[in-house]
Amino acid sequence: MRASHNNQARVHNGYHYPRCFTTAYRSRINLPRFVHDWPEAVTQDFIKLYAIARHNSKVTAKQFERFCRDIGAKVQPAAPVVRALFEPRLIENVFLVEEYAFDSTKLARWAERELAECGVQIHYKTRATEISKGPNATLQVVTETEGSAPALISCRYVFNCTYSGTNQFKGDFPGVQTGLKQEITEMALMQMPAPLDGLGITVMDGPFFSMMPFPARGLHTLSHVRFTPHLHWTDQQGIDPYEKLEHHERATRVDRMVRDVGRYVPAVLKAKHVDSLFEVKTVLVKNEGDDGRPILFEKHAALPGCYSVLGGKIDNIYDVLEKMNEEVF
Ligand SMILES: Cc1cc2nc3c(=O)[nH]c(=O)nc-3n(C[C@H](O)[C@H](O)[C@H](O)COP(=O)(O)OP(=O)(O)OC[C@H]3O[C@@H](n4cnc5c(N)ncnc54)[C@H](O)[C@@H]3O)c2cc1C
Repeated sequence: MRASHNNQARVHNGYHYPRCFTTAYRSRINLPRFVHDWPEAVTQDFIKLYAIARHNSKVTAKQFERFCRDIGAKVQPAAPVVRALFEPRLIENVFLVEEYAFDSTKLARWAERELAECGVQIHYKTRATEISKGPNATLQVVTETEGSAPALISCRYVFNCTYSGTNQFKGDFPGVQTGLKQEITEMALMQMPAPLDGLGITVMDGPFFSMMPFPARGLHTLSHVRFTPHLHWTDQQGIDPYEKLEHHERATRVDRMVRDVGRYVPAVLKAKHVDSLFEVKTVLVKNEGDDGRPILFEKHAALPGCYSVLGGKIDNIYDVLEKMNEEVF
């Protein structure tokens, strides 16, 4: 119900990362696995377009095409009928590509079923607040559940997969060494007019935007590089990102998004704003320049048995599994 739901629902296939070959390449490997493992959660029945802006773009149409070929991703000129949706004075070229969307509610239902079948005990509405060393090489986790006294869980291993909450633990938890940037983001949920309904559009690569089907709500998300991030800060222990989001005023910026997007794709001016998804996005500081989305996988030497894992994309799960296979438990 957090970042895994409140996101753009894009199953990445590399196109989005012309400035980070490794991330593009990993996406190419992970997408087919994702589609194979969760076919019913993946929506493929829409036309996906990548358009290249004429001005202020970090990539030209030629460079984008070459990059797609380098990573082995399908790319072809878009048909005139969809090309006509774009303002030619601002858009250099439009490409038809292969990229999908996922339905997080279906993934959540799968996870719930699978965990139940494996007999995994789940504590809902419970927050882990402290991780400390216990006796005999154990770890101790203090948890707080609404309306109950704090409880103590004693265990051999702790996998900290709390995304925005990664550093928010007391006790012996040392925090992760990799710098994290937190961002409060807004994605507008839109009812698109007929010409845009069966489409996903991403304009590259700079202060532009994307609109993607959001299968969980039967709507489209609209996200804009300039207006989606409302505020950001460098992550540190004690600044609780969820609390910051809770207190954020959530004044929508959809009007500004639509106004700017309308210059490139005029049909969007007829879209209807239904809702906005606000969430904290957590990215690695080192990828600010190249937009790469590697996983963070830290084994805490000072707290043996404790691992912190953060994925910047949903398909990063496969990168995590590979890392786990290298570990000796
Ligand atoms: C605006 C936005 C757009 C994005 N777009 C895409 C996209 O199009 N495609 C893509 O692949 N990825 C996208 N991402 C990234 C993707 O959403 C994340 O990589 C992914 O959801 C991370 O999964 P997660 O399970 O680590 O995080 P989450 O789904 O946030 O899960 C973390 C869980 O930990 C819980 N938690 C936190 N602290 C504690 C604690 N102390 N105790 C107990 N529980 C705790 C939280 O409540 C939450 O349930 C986007 C992210 C954002 C924010």
